[in-house]
Amino acid sequence: MTQEQIAQCPQCERTYQETDRFCQICGVQLQLVAPSTAPVAPQPHPQVLASKPLANSAVQVRWNTQAILGFVFLLVGITVAAIPFAHVALAKLKTTGERGRPLAIVTLVLAYPLFALVMTLFITSIVIAATGGAG
Ligand SMILES: [Zn+2]
Repeated sequence: MTQEQIAQCPQCERTYQETDRFCQICGVQLQLVAPSTAPVAPQPHPQVLASKPLANSAVQVRWNTQAILGFVFLLVGITVAAIPFAHVALAKLKTTGERGRPLAIVTLVLAYPLFALVMTLFITSIVIAATGGAG
């Protein structure tokens, strides 16, 4: 049973033992508050919505150029160029607050496997040409 009552200063909100009657900081008479024995209910969804700046229709937020270029390079199929552009975009978006962060992330997520796939096919074709092309 840990039912010790705690005195809390209404002014500076410091907590004391119940034996203290006056706040040692500001001298205010303390009041007894019930200890919070109730377990803190786990919040199912702590609202992890990205704190996007208030981008109303009045405020036009610029798009990050590198993010767009990286995505365009990805669409064209030049993953070698899309990856560095997306990385630069992510680095700049940390400070500029421009739009395009999801775009850059999508570009990276798609560009890396695509780049690996292309390289795998490229190497495989070389190996096949070197080993099986003799017949
Ligand atoms: Zn106080």
